[in-house]
Amino acid sequence: MASAYDLHTHSTASDGTLSPGELVRRAAARGIGALALTDHDTTDGLAEAQAEAAAQGIVLMPGVELSVTWQGQTIHLVGLRIDPAAPALRDGLARLRRFRHWRAEEIARRLAKAGFAGVLEGARGYSNGELLSRTHFARFLVARGVAADVRGVFKRYLVRGKPGHVPGEWATLWEAVAWIRLAGGQAVLAHPARYEMTNSKRRRLLREFIEAGGVALEVISGSHSRDDCFHMAQLAREFGLLASAGSDYHGPESPWIELGNLPPLPDGLIPIWRDWPKGLA
Ligand code: AMP
Ligand code: MN
Ligand code: MN
Ligand code: MN
Repeated sequence: MASAYDLHTHSTASDGTLSPGELVRRAAARGIGALALTDHDTTDGLAEAQAEAAAQGIVLMPGVELSVTWQGQTIHLVGLRIDPAAPALRDGLARLRRFRHWRAEEIARRLAKAGFAGVLEGARGYSNGELLSRTHFARFLVARGVAADVRGVFKRYLVRGKPGHVPGEWATLWEAVAWIRLAGGQAVLAHPARYEMTNSKRRRLLREFIEAGGVALEVISGSHSRDDCFHMAQLAREFGLLASAGSDYHGPESPWIELGNLPPLPDGLIPIWRDWPKGLA
């Protein structure tokens, strides 16, 4: 059975492949009680998701996944139970999308130099035409036969040191947490085990995240191994952070991650939903 809560998912508003409505219907069919839609740097999918959740009788938590640059690395923050109309968040997201727009053009310029023409238009064809992610470039290049799968394209072309890589210039950690808080939401450090950094640097990140006003660690993530979950649970206890859980679902094309297919929270953790209104899920 699926977990009652899945607090990290994507739709076609960013780099997921199900529309917000389709995503919510799949969540309802799987028995999820409360779903957060957390698209990258946009809240555009929330209205459609909210309407479908009401029709399906499940709870939709308005969310977002913000791109952050911290000490030269890209970090993701999930904002949960945000008000998408809050001006600070809205303006911040608009700024991140302006950077995305420029970065997409720059990725295409760099890939053109590496011998691939027409990549911007190609990637756009895999997006909703509004927000471009590296995932859209990767899907297009897979269709072109450049690599067997999306991971292969990332590895050969889109990560640091590769021809199509463009360094991130996203929000600061402090800005991103502030935008979430000003929108009435809770800031969660997403998939904390996935960042390539030493343990001492990870602890520094946690300290600064808490100082900035962050409240939760995504202990359970579709991209965490069992060991990762165990290790992140220890950090959450040690730092007094609430624990969140989300699949990071992007669509049925990645069948190794399924909506609500999450292990229970390890013992001794306070779930982020503990103080949410009762009867949510
Ligand atoms: P962006 O925010 O446009 O830089 O794209 C980041 C997204 O790309 C992540 O949210 C993942 O969905 C996807 N992604 C990142 N790294 C990889 C990878 N190595 N293989 C496959 N997908 C990846
Ligand atoms: Mn993504
Ligand atoms: Mn992420
Ligand atoms: Mn995500």
